[in-house]
Amino acid sequence: MKQLVTSIMVSLISFSSFGQTDEAYNQAIESFQNYYNVKQYDSIYGMFSDNMKQLITPDVLKMQMDSFHELAGEFEAFSLLKSLPEEKIFKVTHKKNIWEYQMTLNDENMITGLKPQPHTSPDVKVIERNTTKMIVPFKDEWYVFWGGTDVVQNYHVAHENQKYAYDILMEVDGSTHKGDSKNNESYYVFGKDIIAPCDGKIVQIITGVHDNIPGELNPGQLTGNTVVIETGLKEYIMFAHLKQGSIVVKEGQKVKRGELLGQCGNSGNTTEAHLHISLQNQVELFGATGGKLFFEKILVNGEIREDYIPVKGDRIKNIEN
Ligand SMILES: [Zn+2]
Repeated sequence: MKQLVTSIMVSLISFSSFGQTDEAYNQAIESFQNYYNVKQYDSIYGMFSDNMKQLITPDVLKMQMDSFHELAGEFEAFSLLKSLPEEKIFKVTHKKNIWEYQMTLNDENMITGLKPQPHTSPDVKVIERNTTKMIVPFKDEWYVFWGGTDVVQNYHVAHENQKYAYDILMEVDGSTHKGDSKNNESYYVFGKDIIAPCDGKIVQIITGVHDNIPGELNPGQLTGNTVVIETGLKEYIMFAHLKQGSIVVKEGQKVKRGELLGQCGNSGNTTEAHLHISLQNQVELFGATGGKLFFEKILVNGEIREDYIPVKGDRIKNIEN
């Protein structure tokens, strides 16, 4: 199983530069906007400095821009957010979400650095860890495929918005499935109930995403069928890749710990059935910062552990059910 939710960042390398005028920057970003919206990426490439061209080929730029298009949609408007001597930061409204572009130009007004990052509201505070007490959101014993706080045990750590997320599935005798590997029903975890780990309110539902044929990805709908719970302490728990048609809760609904949410599936950017669960500081994954998700009191490899972060290789289960 490879990475299950891809990175949503496009980033180009930045070089320090000289103080160009606001007008030069405005012209550069306007040209970028025009070329980007009609997918004329060769013209964007033509705006790059020689240094940039040594680091990125037109083909790679095209790939990055295509996936950025998928994620962000059309470039609608921009405004200058921050002006530093060697770079400008623009707030850029795309059709689907808002970004901050960090841009640098050289003395010939060629682009020497361009880095779009999700725009985050300064009012949203980072949540280091949950205070809300959690059980694990399933019955029986599941296997932690990715989990923990370092990038070796948990590739999610490299991604700000899903830092410390878990990918959890079921494993028997070293395998996640039995029978035809191209059939979702062969996977032990496919269709298993996902339950609320705590009391809360449902604040986001995404439905209608098909379950992939195992091995195939759906990068246009990263999280697939999704549920987000808001706890009383404004901590957000996101459940991704649920089975199509399985979600039984509605937006605005209050749920109790242990209540059924839906079933584990293989929808979105995932190669096989598993549950992706993470703690976020806001409803939207885009622009969120992930936090450490601790479980109050659970069985880990058969032993009771309290206030615990499961790590790769752990077999975890609630004490009851
Ligand atoms: Zn994941």
